[in-house]
This record gives sequence, C-alpha cells and structure tokens, in this order.
Amino acid sequence: MEPPERPAAHRAAFAPWDDPAARPLVVYDGVTKRFGAETAVVDLSLAVYEREFFALLGPSGCGKSTLMRMLAGFESPSEGRVLLAGEDLAGVPPHLRPVNMMFQSYALFPHMSVETNIAFGLAMEGRPRDEIGARVGEALRMVKLDGLAGRKPHQLSGGQRQRVALARALVKRPKVLLLDEPLGALDRKLREETQFELMALQERLGLTFIIVTHDQDEAMTMATRIAVMDKGRLAQIGTPRAIYEAPTTRYVADFIGDINLVEGKVTGAEGSRVSVMTALGDMVVAEASEPVSVGQAVAVAWRPEKTRLVRAGETGPAGSVMLTGTIADIGYLGDWSTYHVDIGGLRLKAALANAVRRAEDAVDWGDPVRLAVAPEALILLVR
Ligand code: ATP
Repeated sequence: MEPPERPAAHRAAFAPWDDPAARPLVVYDGVTKRFGAETAVVDLSLAVYEREFFALLGPSGCGKSTLMRMLAGFESPSEGRVLLAGEDLAGVPPHLRPVNMMFQSYALFPHMSVETNIAFGLAMEGRPRDEIGARVGEALRMVKLDGLAGRKPHQLSGGQRQRVALARALVKRPKVLLLDEPLGALDRKLREETQFELMALQERLGLTFIIVTHDQDEAMTMATRIAVMDKGRLAQIGTPRAIYEAPTTRYVADFIGDINLVEGKVTGAEGSRVSVMTALGDMVVAEASEPVSVGQAVAVAWRPEKTRLVRAGETGPAGSVMLTGTIADIGYLGDWSTYHVDIGGLRLKAALANAVRRAEDAVDWGDPVRLAVAPEALILLVR
C-alpha cells in the first residue's frame, strides 16, 4: 500500500510571504470594483505566492467571488490593477489567462461522458487527439476516476461529479486554479476526505489554488493563508493559526471560531502588558499586539477552549483571571462540551474536551462555577 500523503509535512517550512525576496504570483494592487451604486471591492491590495493554497473567507456578499472573477477575467476592476507574474492582466481575455475557475455548480455537460467533459477545453483549444487523450488520462488518474471515464454525470455521486469538475479544470494546467465553494455539494465526511485529497493534489502538482468558501473549518484545514474580508475590504490576512490565535480586530475575532469578548478601558500599559478595566473587573493582557494609551476603549477576548472550568472547592491555576458565575447551558457535542456561564450580566463560553469517557457531566445547570483564564490567553483588540 502506498504511504498516505501528508501535505502538512511540506507545509511546515513554506512561508514565502515572510521572504522579502519572494515575488508574488498574483497581486491585487489597490483594486476597487463598482457595480452601479454598489461597491463590491474597496481599494484592496493583496499578494498570493506560487504554490499557496489561499482562502478567501467572509460572509455572503463581502466580495469574494468578485475578487476571483477579476482574476479569471470575467470582470474588470473599476480602479487598480490585477497582476499575474508581474504582468498587468487588463485587457487579457479569460481564455488567454493562465487561470482556470471551477464553479460552485460544477456546470458539467449532462449529455457528455466524464471523458468528453474533461477533454472539452482542450478540444476547444484545437489540441491534437493524442495529446488530449494523454492529458485526459492523466487528469482522470489524478482525481482517481480512471474507471469511470465512460459514465455520464447523472451516473456519478456528488463527490465524483466534483472530482470531474476538478479534473476538467486541472487538465488545462493553469498556473492558478480558482475554486468557488468546490466542496459545497458534499456531505461532511466526504467533504473532509476530499479536503485532504485536494491538498495532496495541489502539493503534488505544485499548483497555486485560490479558494472561496463560507466554511471556516474548511479554510482552516486547507489554507496556507486566509484573507478575511469585510464588506469589500481586507480585514486580516495570515496563516490559519495567526488568524485564530492573534486576530487584530473585533470583527475577525468574532467571525473566526467562538470567542468571549468583553469591552473595557485601558487603565495602565507597561511594555506589552496592558491592564484593562472591564465589566468583569480588572484584566491584565500579557502581550498586546499594538501600543495603547490609558483611557482608550478596547476589548479583551479569549477563546472558549482556553478557559478552565473550576468547580466549587477547587482552586484555579495561579496567575489566572478568575471569574465567578453560574452554568446557564451545557452543550454536549461528543468530543467537546460547551458550557455557557452567566457572569456579571454577560454570557461567557468555556469549551472542554471530553478526554475521559464518563456517563455524566462534571457540572450541571445552575451550578456555581468559576472560570480561569491565563493572561497569555487574553487578546487585546483595539479595532
Ligand atoms: P457569496 O458568498 O454570497 O457568493 P461573495 O462574497 O462572493 O458572496 P460577491 O458575489 O463578490 O460576494 O458580491 C459582492 C457584492 O457585489 C454583493 O453585494 C453583490 O450583490 C454585488 N454584485 C456582484 N456581482 C454583481 C453584478 N454583476 N452586478 C451588480 N452587483 C453585483
């Protein structure tokens, strides 16, 4: 048996965005896109590097698809430039761009076989028959559909249809493959499997992927970096870990994952240690990411899974912020339980891994509890 592919192993050392000498493959340079009175993208600049698996994430209508369509050539910027390998793409028609887009709907031709669907683009380019045959065969093997070349789309499962669409996009050997919700039609289990297949395929072929998704778990799993968008603007760009562990705004902190967020005012700042007066009392953030001044309005945030639940009679870890409240709700998710705790008029969340198999929860509705949060877990949000 072949050893399983491990995309993550190659990923560890991959960070061209930190290398000042690295030249980006795709550059959006001050791009604005207006549709009549509506501005879908506002003065947005970002760079994507070769071999990245880049995810665009944000709520519906924030401009993700518009950004992709400008790279594919289906829309042109109202202002600014889109560059590929240093070349301004203005005026280059879609079919002459080394970019391919796989759509949400897959848009397979229903009356054509898998093989003809995949061959279609190459046939349109007027490629010789032998070359088409060889490239289609290769694409089918890549997506592990070699046995199904003669089937029609309606004779395939949703996951198989998705792979045909992928093969059809890959067969043209684009420099950049744009994927708009590529796994949207798949059930959760197949979706997770396909995510890893897609990552392995992208690694193996050395391609650059830009993916649009609504699903943040999907972006976290697959992406080298994520761009979080907010109403046509870039809210934050970074590795999944940076976006999750070090969000820079309330919007990003709240959009990605679950978070507890308490508003307050800065009462003291000493180096990167910042004290904040909040409705829950004084909190000291160990490491603020940007300078603040006394009196400034800020928020203190922390992730539910970085919260310890301390039962009556137990003592919390030394140095932690201790918050006393009452259990309002418990959600048992199998692998995790989430506890909603009412404290000082706020409802906070704590998430605990159910690492030990047991019949009953450690606490119950209405129980008094304390939450312990280590100062290192606290995030200071200025914007
Ligand atoms: P979704 O996740 O729902 O696909 P999105 O983030 O991809 O959303 P876009 O499709 O880029 O968002 O749309 C951004 C904004 O631009 C929306 O308000 C949308 O209504 C508008 N828009 C997009 N295309 C057009 C168009 N051709 N004409 C007019 N308005 C458009």
